[in-house]
Amino acid sequence: MSDLTGLRALVTGGASGIGLATVHRLTERGATVAVLDLDPGNLPLGFKADVADDASVRTAVAAAVEQLGGLDILVNNAGIGAIGSVEDNPDDQWHRVLDINLLGIVRTTRAALPHLRASEHAAIVNTCSIAATAGLPQRALYSASKGAVLSLTLAMAADHVREGIRVNCVNPGTVDTPWVGRLLDAAGDPAAERAALNARQPTGRLVSAEEVAAAIAYLASPDAASVTGTALAVDGGMQGLRLRPV
Ligand code: NAD
Repeated sequence: MSDLTGLRALVTGGASGIGLATVHRLTERGATVAVLDLDPGNLPLGFKADVADDASVRTAVAAAVEQLGGLDILVNNAGIGAIGSVEDNPDDQWHRVLDINLLGIVRTTRAALPHLRASEHAAIVNTCSIAATAGLPQRALYSASKGAVLSLTLAMAADHVREGIRVNCVNPGTVDTPWVGRLLDAAGDPAAERAALNARQPTGRLVSAEEVAAAIAYLASPDAASVTGTALAVDGGMQGLRLRPV
């Protein structure tokens, strides 16, 4: 069990799905956790911001760090999906998704780095995806955005290793979150779609948000002090077993 007692964390996209499960996991392990989200709801340390807007990110990160009294852990998790081949999304949609999924990480990291440098246990965890490397059909834009997140994770790990800041990512498979629920609802017969989706997983079921959160908590913890520049697959074996993803 990764002990995070006394550590201070910020989770982007922490109001739902993998992000919310991460907030719970980090809190259970002893961390104090703030959330940066478009809609933080009534989370106690919730800060409303759009990762696509640099000014709102800087304001929210500064406010969160002030409340936390410093920062040790940044979880760059906010992201959106996109369906289709290169023919299906116009340029403005490419710009929008890259602005959130890729540049969103750049913005929060830039705002957080001066605070992370002051930490004895600084760690950044990015939520990437098996889409980064799997060659998924009908996911050109989403896959390109996550491929960039994987490359960015490695580059950031190299840039900051001598400063004692570790940078890793998780590569989830298909995770049972509100996002996937919305996709299933749009499909007509959600129960049948869910059964078919489960059947396509190596394990026969979707990954849970809590399982991804546990991997994020490990990578963020001092237990992973010698782990940097890695991508941890949490996909029920989808990638490692070379099975055809959804
Ligand atoms: P979700 O939709 O349940 O939650 C996403 C959260 O991010 C929401 O609270 C939303 O308000 C917030 N958010 C979205 N855009 C934002 C913005 N511009 N600024 C600030 N906050 C914003 O989604 P999820 O399934 O938990 O996905 C979280 C992350 O996990 C994403 O990066 C996604 O790409 C990745 N992921 C998800 C799956 C999956 O199957 N669900 C698989 C692989 C990777």
